[in-house]
Amino acid sequence: MVMSLAARDGLTQVEDVSSSPLAVRGLTVSYGEKPAVFSVDMTLRAGHMTAIVGPNGAGKSTLLKAALGIVKPLAGQAMVFGKPLKSQRHRIAYVPQRASVDWDFPTRVIDVVMMGLQRELGLLRRSRPEHHTHAFDCLNRVGMKDFADRQIGQLSGGQQQRVFLARALAQKAEIYLLDEPFAGVDAATERAIIDVLKSLRSEGKTVVAVHHDLTTVADYFDDVFLINTRKVAEGPVASTLTAESLDKAYGGRLAMAQIDQLGLAAG
Ligand code: ADP
Ligand code: MG
Repeated sequence: MVMSLAARDGLTQVEDVSSSPLAVRGLTVSYGEKPAVFSVDMTLRAGHMTAIVGPNGAGKSTLLKAALGIVKPLAGQAMVFGKPLKSQRHRIAYVPQRASVDWDFPTRVIDVVMMGLQRELGLLRRSRPEHHTHAFDCLNRVGMKDFADRQIGQLSGGQQQRVFLARALAQKAEIYLLDEPFAGVDAATERAIIDVLKSLRSEGKTVVAVHHDLTTVADYFDDVFLINTRKVAEGPVASTLTAESLDKAYGGRLAMAQIDQLGLAAG
């Protein structure tokens, strides 16, 4: 009985991997002796929005970077629609954590967005009018087309975040990975970003974002992935974001009062 169950699990796992826009299996990443991400399986569902949730230092950014091939895992792999990441990397767009970008670099907003077209422009970087039109369309989508000629370093945090989302849009990817897109942005930008992400979802794209505000997870996302170096839980928000799983992910660092405020079912 136990064996047949295990075999069935193995089979569904294989099926999941081939239909998932992004699946990681057995992912372990270490910068030093202690792993930042340990033996993690994650299976994103196509056309869904997934929040990655966990305490500081839980490995959320590392998980995204490894899923993109930016950091090399010690073990495990990422698969894009069942194919090895290496040949599929262009199907994934990435919006890094804003704090990790050097904003003193002198670049115009429109040039940042054009970077999203790098692959399309090829080695010669020869852009045609339609490329510029597309870049402007992407800026327009995030409400930033009037800022095209401004220096990126001169914008507010929220405006910079929108521009980086526009760069991701320019890439015409199928999967969007965003690292704390709402950190340090104003309420209007948060609304603008979530509207864009929801419109991507309505186009059938897959969105995953590291997210800190537990009060908005249920409103913004379909699925949640809880991590604290190891995977804690994964699945639909309603059944996965429970007081028990949050307590497990935050290891008691989240006050019960905070959890109570979320009005979740206990356990
Ligand atoms: P999170 O995004 O959940 O806050 P990170 O993935 O950034 O977590 O970090 C996970 C762990 O790995 C932390 O202990 C962090 O200090 C460590 N870490 C992250 N990036 C590096 C790096 N480039 N070099 C060394 N340690 C790192
Ligand atoms: Mg992080």
